[in-house]
Amino acid sequence: MVSVVDLRSDTVTQPTTAMRAAMLAAPLGDDVFGDDPSVNALQEKIAALLGFEAALFVPTGTQSNLCAILSHCQRGDEYIVGQMAHCYRWEGGGAAVFGSVQPQPLNHQADGTLSLADIEAAIKPDDAHFARTRLLALENTLGGKLLPFDYVQQATRLAQAKGLSRHLDGARLFNAAVAQAAQIGSDTKTEARRIAQCFDSVSVCFSKGLGAPVGSALCGSRELISRAHRIRKMAGGGMRQAGMLAAAASYALDHHIERLANDHALAQRLAEGLAGIEGLQVEAPQTNILFVDLMGAAKEQSAALLKHLADHGIQATGLYRLRFVTHLDVDAAGVDRAVAAIRQFFKS
Ligand SMILES: *Cc1c(COP(=O)(O)O)cnc(C)c1O
Repeated sequence: MVSVVDLRSDTVTQPTTAMRAAMLAAPLGDDVFGDDPSVNALQEKIAALLGFEAALFVPTGTQSNLCAILSHCQRGDEYIVGQMAHCYRWEGGGAAVFGSVQPQPLNHQADGTLSLADIEAAIKPDDAHFARTRLLALENTLGGKLLPFDYVQQATRLAQAKGLSRHLDGARLFNAAVAQAAQIGSDTKTEARRIAQCFDSVSVCFSKGLGAPVGSALCGSRELISRAHRIRKMAGGGMRQAGMLAAAASYALDHHIERLANDHALAQRLAEGLAGIEGLQVEAPQTNILFVDLMGAAKEQSAALLKHLADHGIQATGLYRLRFVTHLDVDAAGVDRAVAAIRQFFKS
């Protein structure tokens, strides 16, 4: 049987044999009592790695962002965020539903950034008419795009100067760090930390490119994390023998960060393989996510193309804009199969 090449998301990875062994071997306690040694070790590891006082292990990135926004903001506050940001668009409006915190979404520029002028203009004066602007939330990578580091510094300095807190949805922070390190000839952990240190809180997913089955961490000051801890409990995220999951995340931090460069190379290989097909516009990938736009006549064929791919054991998502995500469980042969199937579709 030929295996399926699953390019829908980097969340689909299976824990490796070595990761499963680490999970089995993990010493466990009860994390609601605060005595699961594997959870505590993970929280200390990620906080130290990114240069924060404390961290909190949570079941999902969505809950991590919710804990962050509700820790920074009170009812009637607002956060400035991108239209395409996960913590605005893809989380069921949780900050508004659970926290009565209002988003102030802004349009992105082509490189994924929010313009400094737009941010500044969106900050409300202290006036009873307005919600209190409390927080700037950025995302890096955003749709696979690395935010330019000088932009991250400028935007977060602007927010700080205006008295706002700063949150980073760094679900794919380590993809950003690998790409940034490659760009400037630095090392990944240094760049992860440099990006993270521009913010008051950072959320990182272990269940994306890092290849763990479950989990995210929110990092911040001890005080912020103690507020987030209360919100995690309210949101139903207090887990008991969670050390089995934390051990997988710890293993991922030790073994799966640098290898993200392979995923980026595979996205590049896919982009090169698809170059020159009429009707397709391939966006140059910066990390592990490749977007392909169907143009002209091809646009009508998008459903047929996805079906053709599925028939050939290739899974992807999208409609006129297809998304391919590379990860731990995809190799060059799988990418080449995807290229061949797409080329075949456009030949016939
Ligand atoms: C996946 C993702 C999340 C949320 O993660 P879940 O664990 O699926 O809730 C948050 N932000 C970004 C940028 C993501 O890609």
